[in-house]
Amino acid sequence: MIFDVAIIGSGPAGASAAFKLAEKGISTVIIEKETLPRYKTCGGAFGLAGRKIMPFDITEVVEKECFNIDVFFDKIDKKFTIQKDEPIITMVMRADFDNFIVKKAQELGVTLLENHKLTDITFKDDIILHTSKGEIKTKFVIAADGALGKTAKFAGWKETRLLIPALEYEVEVNDDDFKRLSKTVRLDFDAIPMGYGWCFPKKNHLSIGVGALRKVKVDFKQCYRDYLVNTLKVTEIISEEMHGFQVPVSLRKDGFVRNNVFLVGDAAGFADPLSAEGITNAILSGNMAAESIIESKLNGELAENLYNEKLEEHLLPALRSAFKLSKLFYENGTMRNLLIKKYGERICEKMIQIMMGESTYPTDIMKTIKRKLKNAIFS
Ligand SMILES: Cc1cc2nc3c(=O)[nH]c(=O)nc-3n(C[C@H](O)[C@H](O)[C@H](O)COP(=O)(O)OP(=O)(O)OC[C@H]3O[C@@H](n4cnc5c(N)ncnc54)[C@H](O)[C@@H]3O)c2cc1C
Repeated sequence: MIFDVAIIGSGPAGASAAFKLAEKGISTVIIEKETLPRYKTCGGAFGLAGRKIMPFDITEVVEKECFNIDVFFDKIDKKFTIQKDEPIITMVMRADFDNFIVKKAQELGVTLLENHKLTDITFKDDIILHTSKGEIKTKFVIAADGALGKTAKFAGWKETRLLIPALEYEVEVNDDDFKRLSKTVRLDFDAIPMGYGWCFPKKNHLSIGVGALRKVKVDFKQCYRDYLVNTLKVTEIISEEMHGFQVPVSLRKDGFVRNNVFLVGDAAGFADPLSAEGITNAILSGNMAAESIIESKLNGELAENLYNEKLEEHLLPALRSAFKLSKLFYENGTMRNLLIKKYGERICEKMIQIMMGESTYPTDIMKTIKRKLKNAIFS
């Protein structure tokens, strides 16, 4: 089998790239190790920033649109509520959402090879992809195989991302609890050390989880149980399904393209380092990799330059800033609490604007923070 572009992974990064390429008639294959639709461990909170860049309507796979968010910092007894006229977050179940994008790409002619696990890569004149079900020849590879995918390793990258663990439960509760907890999106920054707990309302159930944004020695299951019972005050669990996975919350340090292999989404380390939200940047980077290949007219060197330029223009400066901010936010609780006490409302508003695509992380973030810290300490 010979294709111009082979995409490893059918998550939002891979499926979005496939859609863009197929729109321009480029022969494209998605290689996916699972059978679709497949469950993906994820809160499924899709920020408006991401929804705005979708090339088609996604109403069919929307579980719930959320117009308000409650953010809790229990240790300093602070709660902030942000309300907007537009859906700040659209809740999706990833199996349906990802499969929906893949179907749209297939309608435009993309080939989907399910149950095909990439097992190795050989670089010759073309790239040979070895899979559990045979070989595929291609000119370009888009590595969209997520946090634990191996494409980058097969292509020579070292592991330089910070991978953090998170636990996600799909929980059915009784009607009273569901009514109470499905009114808002809820984030609790003191539910787990160096991270947060979340309660996301879906159509008929809640996605509840805890994630630490740094490597911490803590009993995640116990943190979840305490969060569920003591903070959310869930009185009855009708059903509960546990899933654990990892999110890379820092960028790769050794580049994003080599030998016509383009890293996108979690494979590149593009999730937001502060919120661990990765769907939007997966789509954005998938789009940018596809556009670079299209604009280069399948010229490898040009495509590589274009992708690096686009990343530098639209993504990397904000992610570098967000990472610096995340160090302060998660590694220095005293400073964080000081800032939250004085500027919590404004900080939450800014985060929501970023989620909605109305703002981005300022590149001079540390200067601003230092000034605000001084104000918080001396006023
Ligand atoms: C607990 C948890 C909660 C989260 N909550 C949110 C949230 O609420 N909002 C948000 O925006 N982000 C959230 N994230 C992050 C988000 O899930 C990821 O950032 C996002 O899925 C990245 O998309 P992707 O397309 O890069 O990779 P993925 O969605 O991970 O897709 C990768 C695909 O590659 C396939 N694959 C892997 N290896 C191979 C192989 N060898 N051969 C073939 N196929 C392969 C996989 O089966 C998979 O289908 C959460 C993550 C976790 C762990």
